[in-house]
Amino acid sequence: MRFITSVLGMQRLAKRWRREGVEVGFVPTMGCLHEGHMSLVERARKLVGPKGRIVVSIYVNPAQFGPAEDFSKYPRELPRDTALCRAAKVDLLFAPKDHEIYPAPPDGTFGTYVVEETLSQGMEGASRPTHFRGVATIVAKLFNIVLPDTAVFGAKDFQQAAVVQGMVHDLNFPIRIVVAPTLREADGLAMSSRNRYLSPEERRQATVLWRGIQLARATTRRSQSGVSASKMRDQLVKFISDHPAARVDYIAFFDSVTLQPVDLLKPGTHMAMAVFIGRTRLIDNAKL
Ligand code: AMP
Repeated sequence: MRFITSVLGMQRLAKRWRREGVEVGFVPTMGCLHEGHMSLVERARKLVGPKGRIVVSIYVNPAQFGPAEDFSKYPRELPRDTALCRAAKVDLLFAPKDHEIYPAPPDGTFGTYVVEETLSQGMEGASRPTHFRGVATIVAKLFNIVLPDTAVFGAKDFQQAAVVQGMVHDLNFPIRIVVAPTLREADGLAMSSRNRYLSPEERRQATVLWRGIQLARATTRRSQSGVSASKMRDQLVKFISDHPAARVDYIAFFDSVTLQPVDLLKPGTHMAMAVFIGRTRLIDNAKL
């Protein structure tokens, strides 16, 4: 497995691969890799075939964290991540340095951001105002550095995948975006690098997100005429708040293509939520 930290080094190799007709599959991550990430790697491998190359990037992107968020304490485990990627037969691990991605004076400058203005408005975008500007900017930069044919994103971050798809469509990036399913722990908790912040008691209560989704799904599937979104939200807030460590940030019901909120829940409506478990903010989503 190759290991590259320089932007120019990565871009040179990517251009060589392009000249040679090598197909590139790309999995961007913030590291602290888990089985969810590795399932994206497997998916990328299937998509580009044995002759293709798989690139994983690891970069904790400061631009997508708000000022009061967990950027400085976000877990960083490059040696372990490197071993996992090697074992998964990743061809290249790209772990760029901050000062190359966001050059700062006196040696450089950075002043251009990518802003998606439609799909990024609600949910995560409403709770974390500069988050998707940071995401779209780093993904655009990584696409221009890695030059992938295909990039795989997780449905775990459903709105993120939608924003990336919107950006790729709107700005004509010649890249196929594939969204792979959310991997879960045995008790339903969506795998996440942030799960390691949880104390054992918080970890037990963290299953409330998945149990909340299942409650909404069962209620929706039982109903003949649809379920009121506001009643379902009230019921879920009560259900979640019965867990002392849990505090709801948002619960949203929406159309899975437009991401516009809906008033009436039917099978196929999408739901997403963000819940603080103690000080850790977890997100989850699923189709009802
Ligand atoms: P992150 O490192 O958390 O920014 O995630 C990198 C990529 O992995 C994103 O496309 C995420 O949606 C995806 N991902 C994170 N957790 C999971 C999971 N449990 N299952 C599938 N994909 C995931």
